[in-house]
Amino acid sequence: MKELSPLDVYGLLPKTNCGECGERNCMAFAVKVVNREASIEKCMPLSSSEFAEAYKRLKKMLKPAVKEVVIGVGENAVKVGGKLVMYRHELAYFNPTAIAVDVTDEMPKNIVIERIKKTEELHFWYIGQVLKLDMIAVRSTSNNPEKFATTTKMVAENTNLPLILCSFNPKVLEAGLKAASTAKPLVYAATKDNWETTAKLAKRYDCPLAVFAPNNLKLLRNLVESLLKNDVEDILLDPGTVPGDGLADTLNNFAIIRRCACKRGDELFGFPLIGVPMTVWFDSAGTAEEIVKWREAYLAAMLIVRFADILIMHSLDGWTLLPNMILRQNIYTDPRKPSAVQPGLKTFGAPDENSPVMFTANFALTYYTVASDIESAKINAYLLVVDTTGIAVDSAVAGRKLTAEKVAEALKKSGIESRVKHRKLIIPGKAARLSREIEELTRWQVLIGPKDSSDIPKFLQEKWHTN
Ligand code: SF4
Repeated sequence: MKELSPLDVYGLLPKTNCGECGERNCMAFAVKVVNREASIEKCMPLSSSEFAEAYKRLKKMLKPAVKEVVIGVGENAVKVGGKLVMYRHELAYFNPTAIAVDVTDEMPKNIVIERIKKTEELHFWYIGQVLKLDMIAVRSTSNNPEKFATTTKMVAENTNLPLILCSFNPKVLEAGLKAASTAKPLVYAATKDNWETTAKLAKRYDCPLAVFAPNNLKLLRNLVESLLKNDVEDILLDPGTVPGDGLADTLNNFAIIRRCACKRGDELFGFPLIGVPMTVWFDSAGTAEEIVKWREAYLAAMLIVRFADILIMHSLDGWTLLPNMILRQNIYTDPRKPSAVQPGLKTFGAPDENSPVMFTANFALTYYTVASDIESAKINAYLLVVDTTGIAVDSAVAGRKLTAEKVAEALKKSGIESRVKHRKLIIPGKAARLSREIEELTRWQVLIGPKDSSDIPKFLQEKWHTN
């Protein structure tokens, strides 16, 4: 597909440089639009009838290769898809893979409630963000509409997380949809045998619909074409997740679909993908539970990397989910923007005039690692976060993003001189080569701290004296 340039967008803008969009001119706005940092709706003149055709063309030009689909309602609704590129380095990925945990209509009520609670409560602070799970998948293992309706109603009453209603039986799906009619769940799934009925259900209840055609991309594509002809627009694709001998085909299918959408402009494959790592449990009799969980975890990791927009998982153990939540976060951070925190003076505990003063870089991972080491050791201290443009200490020193001048300036601006009576600055071991220059510029005594922040408590115990 042709790469979009700011000139392509600029050519269709009003070109009056009126500044209503908040940018200094139309070209600056076009650059932001191409980088997906501004939407064309911000250009008010474009909404006039004079520019109706240009607006239409811009909308088409900016349409993502993979459609964005919303599941659920309210603040917990998840957006999936909306991908513009196949590879993250080509721009950035948007809408992180949503992770759903399953319950079934044959599980006892207390187990269902417990699994919902665990799903909602599992969270983890990582580089200043809370990592969480996103959805509940309600599966009909009974194939009984009444049972499914009862379970779906109970789930909907106990969570605001978006739901996936799973059955291949339209009667069961309809019972679930009636029980959660206002929740806008994802209907899973249309197959070659039921697609006409499930399409009607998706339209009647205004819900997105998943299409399932295991290891048969031709059939998947035909089903999508039929659904589109029947006015179902919010579609998700499940080409099947088969562990073991089917793993290679599974990963290839995911990659082929995304390649067709992003590189060849194949609109029938331009929809979000669903991976189901919980399939490892279907044929697991006689295998130790830990092994099955481990298989589920690595299958999920492979599918996150291979473009999955939704995953349905069974295990609720932290050790299977957390590594994947971190992997997801790493992949979905914007590679164009260094992961940085706000520079400035931070306090830990209740520091006083004798407390240690340290500094670090404003690379998010560095900052949160240092902060967590100080916090967990319950140290009262000041930490000066120096603006290194989001680069880690050693690289920032090498690239002159962290210099003695910058440290001196940050120290002065922070107002720390009026908060402590000593003049001792602990610098990261990886910035040791700046020590003499910092001393000359600041007139503070420099103590070279540890290279690894986990050694800070030991370092302070041995070396920190204010007199
Ligand atoms: S509001 Fe529209 S016309 Fe005005 S400067 Fe921005 S892009 Fe140009």
